[in-house]
Amino acid sequence: MIEINDVHKRFGPVEVLKGVSFNVKQGEVVCLIGPSGSGKSTILRCINGLESYQGGEIRVLGQRVDNQQRSINDLRRQVGMVFQRFNLFPHRSVLENVMEGPIHVNGEARAVAEKRAKSLLDLVGLGEKINAWPQQLSGGQQQRVAIARTLALQPKAILFDEPTSALDPELVGEVLQVMRNLAQEGMTMIVVTHEMQFASEVADRVCFLHSGNIVEQGTTDRVLGNPQEPRTRDFLRRVL
Ligand code: ATP
Ligand code: MG
Repeated sequence: MIEINDVHKRFGPVEVLKGVSFNVKQGEVVCLIGPSGSGKSTILRCINGLESYQGGEIRVLGQRVDNQQRSINDLRRQVGMVFQRFNLFPHRSVLENVMEGPIHVNGEARAVAEKRAKSLLDLVGLGEKINAWPQQLSGGQQQRVAIARTLALQPKAILFDEPTSALDPELVGEVLQVMRNLAQEGMTMIVVTHEMQFASEVADRVCFLHSGNIVEQGTTDRVLGNPQEPRTRDFLRRVL
């Protein structure tokens, strides 16, 4: 469903992705791990068309990701993204935050958008909070609204960029639980995370990124349980 083939990305003279390749099949969960600055966010942003890339090719559902605005809009409908910071609209209720995209991006009728928004907020455990303002919610609750907002656009895949790393430790679990449920229901996901317990339970495959290269990728059991590369072993020793 997502094919990344020898992708190179430069910021000015600095090459930050040096030929990254991996594939994600429908229904798969792939965790991207690696040290700070290794290029994890950059690869997600390239997949979603938020950044251009200079070499290689990214395909989503067979269609090449390029800089044509029209295809980027299509792409963003198909591939949702959840960030570390939730960026909810502060002056809109929880329900309105989730309805916004379907109405304004997809041109959906209000009643249809509202019905789906309510059922998605139920799904993430916030059915009681639909009329709250974002600032009245905890960080974990806000991140669950952000996930519902992404789901409201009915994406085929979701990219998560460290969705729990801005949260207090006691709030991490509730967000991971929502993601675990999505994975079980067959959502295709790429997850950048430092939560190794989550990765080991939920990921089908793990890619370890180091200085713009994937130095190791494979099944979760293999990469986390029996890493072959010294740099992977080193990294895991530090985060586990
Ligand atoms: P972290 O774990 O800290 O989030 P990361 O693996 O997500 O790190 P990226 O944010 O992808 O790393 O950054 C990869 C490299 O690209 C870093 O060296 C970073 O400084 C550089 N970089 C990222 N965005 C830009 C930008 N807009 N302009 C210039 N350099 C950038
Ligand atoms: Mg990052």
